Amino acid sequence: MVRLILIGPPGVGKGTQSELLESRHGIKPISTGVIFRAEIDAQTDLGRLAKRYIDHGRLVPNGVTIEMIAKRLRLPEIRKSGFALDGFPRNIDQAEALDEILIENDLAIDRAISLEADTEVVVQRLTGRMGCTKCGAIYHRTNKPPQRDDLCDNCNSVLLVRSDDQPEAIRERLRIFEENTAPIIGYYERKSILKRIDATRDAEEVFAEILEGLTL
Ligand code: AMP
Repeated sequence: MVRLILIGPPGVGKGTQSELLESRHGIKPISTGVIFRAEIDAQTDLGRLAKRYIDHGRLVPNGVTIEMIAKRLRLPEIRKSGFALDGFPRNIDQAEALDEILIENDLAIDRAISLEADTEVVVQRLTGRMGCTKCGAIYHRTNKPPQRDDLCDNCNSVLLVRSDDQPEAIRERLRIFEENTAPIIGYYERKSILKRIDATRDAEEVFAEILEGLTL
């Protein structure tokens, strides 16, 4: 059983790697972005709050985000399956809060993976990205087109471009990554659990490197 943190700028492939970890090894993804988008679709109070930040590419306040993760990490099925945190923590305060949640629940992270790619690569991946509105599968107009235009290969549902995959929000998300999120790479390096991976390569190569040395 494995517990991972996936760190990296938007568009670097965290979601794709989470999908592979789940489908091939049953490791449950815990993606703050996916949870927020589901809350927005369900028109909950949390969704309405989160949307105000997400649409501008800004971070949702720490209080609600940390509580949402704490709730997930207490679930017995997550403790049993292991997990891959995707998109959390996104700043040092969240990383410190995560440490407390882990201690309270008698859990430990095996590895923090830093997926690394130049800005041009991630911008290219974000521009043209589409996601399934039902199962969450991720596609790309040129890198990974669906078999039928705008329909999911897995479940036939409609594919949509995320509202925050627009040029202005993309720029803001990349700025926030550099300013707030990049410092957590050093945080996990100091804990000696960091692994840096060149994420410009093919998803399968990146995946193989993530798994290297892990006891599944
Ligand atoms: P993602 O799907 O990971 O790209 O996340 C989409 C958006 O959700 C981000 O741009 C933020 O607005 C919000 N978000 C996701 N994770 C977090 C987090 N850990 N803290 C604050 N906001 C977040």
